Amino acid sequence: MERVSGERRTIEVALPLPLFQTFTYGVPPEMPTPVAGTRVVVPVRNRKAVGICVGSTAAETVPVDRVRDIAVVPDEDPAVGSALLGLAKWMADYYVVPLGIVLRAILPAALGDATAPRPRLRTERIAVLARDLPSLQERDRLFARSRRQRELFEALEQLGGRSEVAHLVSRLGFSAPVIRALVSRGLITIQAAAVPRDPFAGRSPAPPPAHEPTGRQRESIDALVRAPPGDVFLLHGVTGSGKTLVYIELLREIVHRRGQTAIVLVPEIALTPQTVDRFRAVFGDQVAVLHSALSDGERYDAWRALRRGEKRIAVGARSAVFAPLEGLGAIIVDEEHETSYKNGETPRYHAREVAIVRARAEGAIVVLGSATPSLESWQNAESGKYRRLSLPDRVGGARMPAVEVVDLREGRSPSAQHAGTSLEPFRKVFSESLEAALGERLQRGEQSILLLNRRGYASFLQCDSCGDVRTCPNCSVSFTYHRTPERLVCHYCLREETAGDTCRRCGGATVRQHGTGTQQVERLLAERYPYARLARMDVDTTTGKWAHANILDRVGRGEVDILLGTQMIAKGLDFPNVTLVGVVDADVGINLPDFRASERCFQLLSQVAGRAGRGAKGGDVVIQTRVPGHHAVVCALSHDYRAFVDAEVAARRHPSYPPFTRLAHLVASGDREDATAALAERLSEWLTAALAAWGRDEVTVVGPAPCPIERIKRRWRWHLLLKSERPASLTRLGRALMERFPVPDAHALRVTFDRDPVSLL
Ligand SMILES: [Zn+2]
Ligand SMILES: [Zn+2]
Repeated sequence: MERVSGERRTIEVALPLPLFQTFTYGVPPEMPTPVAGTRVVVPVRNRKAVGICVGSTAAETVPVDRVRDIAVVPDEDPAVGSALLGLAKWMADYYVVPLGIVLRAILPAALGDATAPRPRLRTERIAVLARDLPSLQERDRLFARSRRQRELFEALEQLGGRSEVAHLVSRLGFSAPVIRALVSRGLITIQAAAVPRDPFAGRSPAPPPAHEPTGRQRESIDALVRAPPGDVFLLHGVTGSGKTLVYIELLREIVHRRGQTAIVLVPEIALTPQTVDRFRAVFGDQVAVLHSALSDGERYDAWRALRRGEKRIAVGARSAVFAPLEGLGAIIVDEEHETSYKNGETPRYHAREVAIVRARAEGAIVVLGSATPSLESWQNAESGKYRRLSLPDRVGGARMPAVEVVDLREGRSPSAQHAGTSLEPFRKVFSESLEAALGERLQRGEQSILLLNRRGYASFLQCDSCGDVRTCPNCSVSFTYHRTPERLVCHYCLREETAGDTCRRCGGATVRQHGTGTQQVERLLAERYPYARLARMDVDTTTGKWAHANILDRVGRGEVDILLGTQMIAKGLDFPNVTLVGVVDADVGINLPDFRASERCFQLLSQVAGRAGRGAKGGDVVIQTRVPGHHAVVCALSHDYRAFVDAEVAARRHPSYPPFTRLAHLVASGDREDATAALAERLSEWLTAALAAWGRDEVTVVGPAPCPIERIKRRWRWHLLLKSERPASLTRLGRALMERFPVPDAHALRVTFDRDPVSLL
């Protein structure tokens, strides 16, 4: 067989196919050899696909007669720079995903379409000043009686000499004849130009923060500015302590003084429009906002502007970590504990981890900011891997809100005065304390936020007297209550126990608990307070692209008295007139069958409490619970993150969970229940055999068991948990499994490998 020789050039191409390999293609004689990172359109069977050239083929490996040629090289420059290509290779290895699938995920979708190699840019008419009029006398003479023409001319001057015609007409109210008049006088020209589609363009930016950095903020800023490349900082600041100001001052140094670029990751743009507005207020046109709801064309525009260096700061949700910036100086991960940084589909990367790997490779620093850092990041700061900066006080002398815990076990039975009245259903959900607090706010014209913890789908059994919830002794997670037959099941290890009517701890009666829906609570509120203006924010009310921002803008304008919502309302909102935050039922979150349930609950309670009292009026928080002694509740009550971490870290040692071990979550899913269970069994046997063949016990296999959420989108789900203290062992086992484990019916059954999972539901 003929081998590659000097006459035939071949390259290796990564394609978005579920195969752990690259593919060899020939370069036609008339074509220059593409450099690594360049997009190439290649034949795959009888269609065309877009791949990324990852380098030349090692000369002696390819039978040349079976190699097909690349069809087209659509771009002049590589779509993926060498640093990002290196990052993609790391991700492919660590998350056990084919390189081509990683590369497709990190590029804008528009670049993956073989039929339209380059998305068309939207063009728009731009008015551009054609000459200067430095002297006032000249202006007076030229515009003598044409007041609007002069206003248009001066508006354009203020806009930096150019503006979209549409903006001048619809926003500033200039008429077409006025614009035409300036054109005919030679004062402006109209040009067609490619215009980025910026959905934030219509939002008026917030005014820059008025206050100077406090002493503590200044210390943090100085430490960041002096940091050597590659350093990772954990910026631990209480809610309202002014972390955003620290970010902005750091970016002034990085972008304005050093001429470098930066990435700012936020949990979800739609939920944090205020934060984004503040960056735009300071850095204006330098900022590209990347949003998960952008159209492909909008995303491509932003990507292109970053790639060309026209924009120097990328602000966005997790995928903004792949912004094609050169000369990266800093990556900021705001609210680093948020689970939305984890991608929910392949590649299942965690943007915080990717940010650290990228920053170290490119010589940038990383700032992880949070009021309630993840246990992993906290542990890394304790061990000295990260450097810790603290902002222990709220800025502007604001105090932390007073938190009151209402014990739902007391006075659970409706008090005599309401029994049988129309108030009875309301009183089952709202304690007298919370009702009184709400009433006061309505009277004073102040605003309230009510949080309903994650919608309950798993029932649990709780003691009505002591609040105890039974947990699996093997796994330390709550048992899930099953009705038929009645039993308690651990959804990690499949241990079963009888349910029983009495509490094992105190002998009290047990009751089945389940979450209350947001709609139901909204109806109760509407009946109780017919004149209150209510807004509800949950997955049902926020399907539109800007639905979140619109609801929040209404709150900001004072058009809402009570905002009711799921955990999405707990994030970075800052409304000075919100003086009450109520948590309707804290227990639903605490008792989810997930080892992170307490951590999530503490974070949520702390974050939502942080929404109260950010203005001069102060604020109160009311938390309703049946477990007032639970460390997540106690520590949220006292705003004591350290105490929470101490208790939680101790609980993670035995049985061991992160940060003391590394996890991978294997989920088998299928359209038939029996076949899915059988697949999970076979996975377990395969893993056990593979580990035995290695002769090492570096990885522990837990399960299989049905997932706590047993069905999603009509697919049954079973899972296994892999634990190891050695990351490399998980990589090796995961790679062997994903490459070699035979899935019997690949159309109906699927196996996913989730490294460092954030949820085991
Ligand atoms: Zn009890
Ligand atoms: Zn268990």
